[in-house]
Order: sequence, then structure tokens, then C-alpha cells
Amino acid sequence: MFHRIAETAGARLVTSLRARPKAFLIAVATCLTALLQASSFAAQNKPNQIRFEYVPPKNTAHQWIHDRMKEGRALEDLQKLLSPIRLPYPLLLKVDSCDGVPNAYYNDEVITVCYELLADIIKNAPEKDLPIGISRADTILGPVLDTFLHETGHAIFRMLEIPVLGREEDAADQFSTYAMLKLDKDEARRMILGAAYQYHLYMPGQNFTLSIKTFADEHSLPAQRMFNILCMAYGADQKLFSDVVEKGFLPKERAETCVVEYGDVTFAMTKLIAPHVDKQRAKTVFKEWTRIATVRRAKLSTQQKPIEANR
Ligand SMILES: [Zn+2]
Repeated sequence: MFHRIAETAGARLVTSLRARPKAFLIAVATCLTALLQASSFAAQNKPNQIRFEYVPPKNTAHQWIHDRMKEGRALEDLQKLLSPIRLPYPLLLKVDSCDGVPNAYYNDEVITVCYELLADIIKNAPEKDLPIGISRADTILGPVLDTFLHETGHAIFRMLEIPVLGREEDAADQFSTYAMLKLDKDEARRMILGAAYQYHLYMPGQNFTLSIKTFADEHSLPAQRMFNILCMAYGADQKLFSDVVEKGFLPKERAETCVVEYGDVTFAMTKLIAPHVDKQRAKTVFKEWTRIATVRRAKLSTQQKPIEANR
């Protein structure tokens, strides 16, 4: 019904503009000016706008996380990975204390990832590598990368005024998954399955009870987020992620729609986000990420798990 009203109003406007050619020309000129302003706004945006800060933790139990990240130049590596995005002003990546709440959020050009969340991710990592072919290190690196990319999704929706249909939290998850899938194949698989592993931990069994309030959350439920990640991955590369369906991590019924789901996200990313990315730089840094992640993975697998991680 609303469509019909809009169409009728539109037809009336066109008829009235046709009757007044001067007004028609003014309307066209106004539209063109707006379009030119938008494109020059995009042209003014620059890559290399990512800044970072390692805020010393309030809780001494998190000091080692701060130290290891700083020594390992974790935020510098993320800065490099995100550097191809053309932004109108700087975006700060920050690790900080959040008064005991394991969280991550974006606000006013600042992405904050809490030490409490990082401690939880490390605490949740399995002692041994997983039979699906990913390492303990991947179950840490994957969710940490996913967290920063998810928040980057929120940041660019706001900073670049990207229209979002559907829930922004789901769109931020899609942004993150899509970006991870652009890494080299082996790296993409490790990061995707590592991120999915952390959501899997919130599924205690085939059936479980949740309070009604849980369904009101702006985020999808952890199980849904896990299936969404796996579905996008399977939709992107059915060969690379075939075992995800074969082993029953992603139900066959859902898997049937994943190529279309991935196609929808690809279309949105190509239309809305790609014009804001320095493609040459993205190609280089995404390639380099494999080397960076390999070094980081090796370090993580040789490091002992500090007792403090069990907060
Ligand atoms: Zn979010």
C-alpha cells in the first residue's frame, strides 16, 4: 500500500515537473550537485587512517595480555590490515579495561576491545589442536580478529554513512566474515573456524533453555552467529568448507541457501564498501597477513598459558 502511495506521488511530481521545464532542470541540477558532492567526499577520504593505543590495564591479572600484545605488535598488524579503508578521519583501535565486563564496542571513532573479553577468549581456547584441522592458536587469533573486524564494520557504517538494511549487529558480523574470507584460503579457514569455535562454546547441547529476554538482544544468539559465519564461508567456498557440512557443524538444510546468502553479502560489499577501499593496498596487506599470522600462531603455540588467564 505504501508503495502505491509513493508511486502515485512520484508520478504526480514528474507530471508537474514536465509541465514546468525550468523547475525540472533545477531538480536535475540539484540531484547532480548532491551526487558530485558525495563522490568528492569519497575522494577526499584517505587510506592509512588507523591509529592504535595499548591502554595499561586496571586489573593486574590482565597485564600479561597487554605486554604480549604490545611486544608482539598486535595492534600495529591490525592497523596494517585495515589501512586500505579510505576514511574521512582517523579511527582508533584500543585495548582497554572495561570494569570486569567482557565486551568490545565502537563509539565516536574509537574501537575498544576489553582485556576482559581477550582473557575470556584465551581462557576458552582448548588445550589441544582441534580434529577439524585448526590449532589452539587459531581459536584465539580467529575470534580476536573477528572482534576487531566486527567493530570496524560498525565504525565504517557510521564514518562512511553506509546504509544498513536489517540489524546492524548482523551486518557487522557479515562485514567481518566477508573480510576474513578475503584472506588466503588456509588463513581464511583457520580464522573462520577459530571464530566459530568461540560461539560454539555457548551451545551446551542440542537442546537448551534460554530466558525470553535473551531473544530481545540486538545481537543474534551465539548459535545463530556461528551458523551465519559457517554459512557465509560455505557459500563462498564449498570445497574449502565442505567438511563443515559433512561433519554436521552446519545443517544441510541451511547449507542449501548459503551460496545465495554469500552472493547477497558480496553484492552489498561490492556496491557499498568496495568504493571506499584502496584495492592495490588491500591486495598487498591481505597477502602479508598470512606471514604475520603464521609468526603469531607459532608464538602462541609455544607460549605457556599463564595462570592469570583463568580469570
Ligand atoms: Zn556489534
